[in-house]
Amino acid sequence: MAGSGKFFVGGNWKCNGTKDSISKLVTELNSAALESDVDVVVAPPFVYIDQVKSSLSDRIEIAAQNCWVGKGGAFTGEISVEQIQDLGCKWVVLGHSERRHVIGEDDQFIGKKAAYALSQGVGVIACIGELLEEREAGKTFDVCFKQLKAYADAVSSWDNIVVAYEPVWAIGTGKVASPEQAQEVHLAVREWLSKNVSAEVSSKTRIIYGGSVNGGNCAELAKKEDIDGFLVGGASLKGPEFATIINSVT
Ligand code: PGA
Repeated sequence: MAGSGKFFVGGNWKCNGTKDSISKLVTELNSAALESDVDVVVAPPFVYIDQVKSSLSDRIEIAAQNCWVGKGGAFTGEISVEQIQDLGCKWVVLGHSERRHVIGEDDQFIGKKAAYALSQGVGVIACIGELLEEREAGKTFDVCFKQLKAYADAVSSWDNIVVAYEPVWAIGTGKVASPEQAQEVHLAVREWLSKNVSAEVSSKTRIIYGGSVNGGNCAELAKKEDIDGFLVGGASLKGPEFATIINSVT
């Protein structure tokens, strides 16, 4: 990793689990031997955050998978930043491709959410990434830079942001980006940050990779200079495999 921050591994549990399965996963995580030099975060579904917070080791921090764009109030079905904070979340995942492409959130809305979460002291795992057709049309950098710019335009500090590059074609498909493909985009993101935000932010910001990361492919990806960690979906639901990914830090 070329970024100066600690290796960062997030587990995005998405809309999976029951009280029982989550209790089993927490037990596995509590008994796993984890490298000390890695920031580890898991993002359970909202309804299980309290259960996870009260049973998971403090070694692992908790993220929400989403949040409302501003202060809470009359917003039926939404969950505010203040509420996730009240449950002990230090982080929130924003701009995930499933929220962009399934739910229809746009760059500006995501940027506003990021700014609000940061203003309340909650760190943001800021996802970006291109669709397959965008990659095939040679637009990968354009798409990622446009998404990054929306965050940059909205936030006033990058101190508490981790950027997650997650090519949409690699998410949940079993088709992981090659280490070279990922490194190429991570480097471009770092250069974009240097040019458009500052050299300091560029070197300090963790840029993590997500999309079909598993226990078998993490080591090769982790060797790449600008890959500072992972955002893991499916494989984060298995405690021992998630531990292998955490321990792939080089
Ligand atoms: P995946 O999901 O690891 O199951 O591909 C990654 C993500 O969506 O963050």
